[in-house]
Amino acid sequence: MDVPADLLADRLRAGDRRALARAITLVESTRADHRAAADRLLSDVLPHTGRAVRIGITGVPGVGKSTFIEAFGLHLIGLGRRVAVLAVDPTSQRTGGSILGDKTRMEDLGRSPEAFIRPSPAGTTLGGVARRTREAMLLVEAAGHDVVIVETVGVGQSETAVAGMVDTFLLLLPPAGGDDLQGIKKGIVELADVVVVNKADGDLAGAARRAVADYRHALALLRPSLAGWTVPVLAASAVEGSGVAEVWTTVLAHRAALGTAGLDTRRSAQARAWLWDEIRETLVASFVVHGPVRASLAAVEAEVEAGRLTPGAGAARLLAAFRQGAVGV
Ligand code: GDP
Repeated sequence: MDVPADLLADRLRAGDRRALARAITLVESTRADHRAAADRLLSDVLPHTGRAVRIGITGVPGVGKSTFIEAFGLHLIGLGRRVAVLAVDPTSQRTGGSILGDKTRMEDLGRSPEAFIRPSPAGTTLGGVARRTREAMLLVEAAGHDVVIVETVGVGQSETAVAGMVDTFLLLLPPAGGDDLQGIKKGIVELADVVVVNKADGDLAGAARRAVADYRHALALLRPSLAGWTVPVLAASAVEGSGVAEVWTTVLAHRAALGTAGLDTRRSAQARAWLWDEIRETLVASFVVHGPVRASLAAVEAEVEAGRLTPGAGAARLLAAFRQGAVGV
């Protein structure tokens, strides 16, 4: 942490992996002085960001996300790409209990010098975790990674958060339950730009074929995520590696369908949303530590819970305290 931001920026841009890891640790820190250094670092590297293909991947635990990302990542490295894998898992804590699991995942990919894998930052709010992952994305791009994969699980709004930071959002589905998208949150299907039915191998090959047909049928009834883009449904086997190359060509086809202007528009809208997320997060964080607000927060919450005060009136009272620095409940 004691390395100045400009030095760290130079080192990570030169491909120093330790500098990259330290830079990400810096942006993940909640200490005020670290935050200031992180903001300087991010401003320094900003002109060198934005050149990667940004891909989001979601799917329920066990669907094969880590197996798929490993096969996909190794395929991309074979094509001369440099891959970074980040994660958004709001359940992740340093003490364990994360859904996406620990570092034993994606071992082969992790050994490649062309890959950089970073588990989800720990955090209790999705907003906080997403913010740090977005910043880590800028750092890996500045370090020369030209494909960034952001993995997430279907907890809370984590898919929406990840879809809001990538160019192409991929939904991985199991080879079963195809009729009327059983068991899948409809909102998630609507976020998907590409659907992949994984485990299309061995005894599951037939079920996978049927699932592909069912999903194609169901998706045809949904509004497309992009005008002129019918969400493709592909079959793949992460363990056998089949279909993995097609997923990449489909990601590129989606980019082509977006076009340069479409991609710019998407990223501009994402940057604007990010700005507002930052404002909301920062305002709420300073609100809850504000002396007069803190002094009455519990009392106002209790009044609202008991139904003696409307949430609107309670919020107005606390906001007045925030603005004026004094409160009376
Ligand atoms: P995640 O929880 O979504 O990251 O899933 P994992 O990648 O950990 O995989 C869960 C289980 O499914 C593991 O036992 C994998 O070996 C298995 N699996 C993953 N991909 C495939 C596949 O393409 N075919 C088959 N048959 N099994 C797979």
